[in-house]
Amino acid sequence: MRYVSTRGGAAARGFEDVLLAGLAEDGGLFLPESWPEFSAAEWRALRGLPYPELAARIIHPFTGGALTLEALQGLTARAYAGFRHPAVVPLVQLGPRDFALELFHGPTLAFKDVALQLLGLLFDHVLEKRGERITIVGATSGDTGSAAIEACRDRAALDIVILHPEGRTSEVQRRQMTTVLSPNVANLAIQGSFDDCQDMVKAMFVDAPFRGEMRLAAVNSINWARIAAQIPYYAAAALALGAPDRPVAVSVPTGNFGNVLAAWAASRMGLPIARFIVAANRNDILARFLASNDMSARPVEPSFSPSMDIQVSSNFERLLFELLGRDAAATAQVMTEFRTTGRMPVPDAAWRQAAAAFQGFALDDDATLAEIARRQREAGYLADPHTAIGLAAARSLAPEDRGIPVITAATAHPAKFPDAVERATGLRPPLPPALADLYEREERFTTIPNDLAAAQRFIRAHAMRNAA
Ligand SMILES: *Cc1c(COP(=O)(O)O)cnc(C)c1O
Repeated sequence: MRYVSTRGGAAARGFEDVLLAGLAEDGGLFLPESWPEFSAAEWRALRGLPYPELAARIIHPFTGGALTLEALQGLTARAYAGFRHPAVVPLVQLGPRDFALELFHGPTLAFKDVALQLLGLLFDHVLEKRGERITIVGATSGDTGSAAIEACRDRAALDIVILHPEGRTSEVQRRQMTTVLSPNVANLAIQGSFDDCQDMVKAMFVDAPFRGEMRLAAVNSINWARIAAQIPYYAAAALALGAPDRPVAVSVPTGNFGNVLAAWAASRMGLPIARFIVAANRNDILARFLASNDMSARPVEPSFSPSMDIQVSSNFERLLFELLGRDAAATAQVMTEFRTTGRMPVPDAAWRQAAAAFQGFALDDDATLAEIARRQREAGYLADPHTAIGLAAARSLAPEDRGIPVITAATAHPAKFPDAVERATGLRPPLPPALADLYEREERFTTIPNDLAAAQRFIRAHAMRNAA
């Protein structure tokens, strides 16, 4: 299995290089040269497997021989051992054809743990084999940072440094990062905004000598291995509901388009997913695109579902490449024009193809609270604001699809967004027991000014200490 860049300006690579590189050097995203497919009989044979084993079997074709199936099974078993539910990703029925796929039973209470817990182990496995060491650097406004830290803590071959804007994350978010006291983890509180943090990280990646010296790497959602690690939970849910002998639909609360792209990848592997609902908050660029081929970026507006407050969904480029018949030159041209004009010129035929499979949906904050209240009232179910948007979207299925079960990705635990849930229902969801003492735990972080050189000095010292 080799990987190609969506912009055609990078040599084809194997799985290990794609895992470590993240973004291709031409600015494109990696995709497999061809999609592995399972026959109906092969899908049926996967029914009923424990989740870690199912995950290993589905991910293995993407690794192209970099790991044996047994080695990968060892990693998936370790990755999911710490999840708080024995099913890892339980499927909860909320209505006759209405299901929530709970992806939030990992350490940081959000779906990103499902992929990142495995990614940390994959990094370690590959780096130890190669005798290499890397430094993962990232900026966070809250959630991604903690999922990355939990994935990388105590790994032998890597260090991780996460920058957050001092005083501008919620206390729960900060504590989820700063109470991880593992020696390979460091938190930097930057006296500035999230944009300052992000600019600093970008500047470090552009600083070639520093990047090379530190072997800088990223774990953001453009990493192909993250998408691959999100395919198995759609398969687990679809198989439980009768696939491959019965079609399903999925409804996915969407930000960077990574999670819904993973569902689409599952369909490329042969699972019958009849419809993909792309659920958004008031930042509705994808819903506008699917309704009327209007992919034009507007300023990001804050909402009760902050992990979806995104205007440019980076993983959309992977779908675009496929819609354009894998024409890398055409993809590069469309992306360049999007960057310069803020409007993506998607050819009409490609848009029609997208709109035939994907359906957009957008919901504002008031309607999101109403949906949380409705689900609590009807089924006694507490949904976080992201999940609630997905659940509302699930009801918007086109009439011809209404006999099909809909799997909504439940992307965050309600206790992660207790204020919105309490406002909607009067109930304040408690943190799970494993996190109940979060407010008593010791914190460790270093505060520095918004100064690139100071941040680089800190990262160098952190990496040196651990490599020694
Ligand atoms: C990251 C995130 C999303 C968006 O997922 P994408 O893969 O970026 O589309 C939705 N909900 C929650 C809770 C998240 O953390």
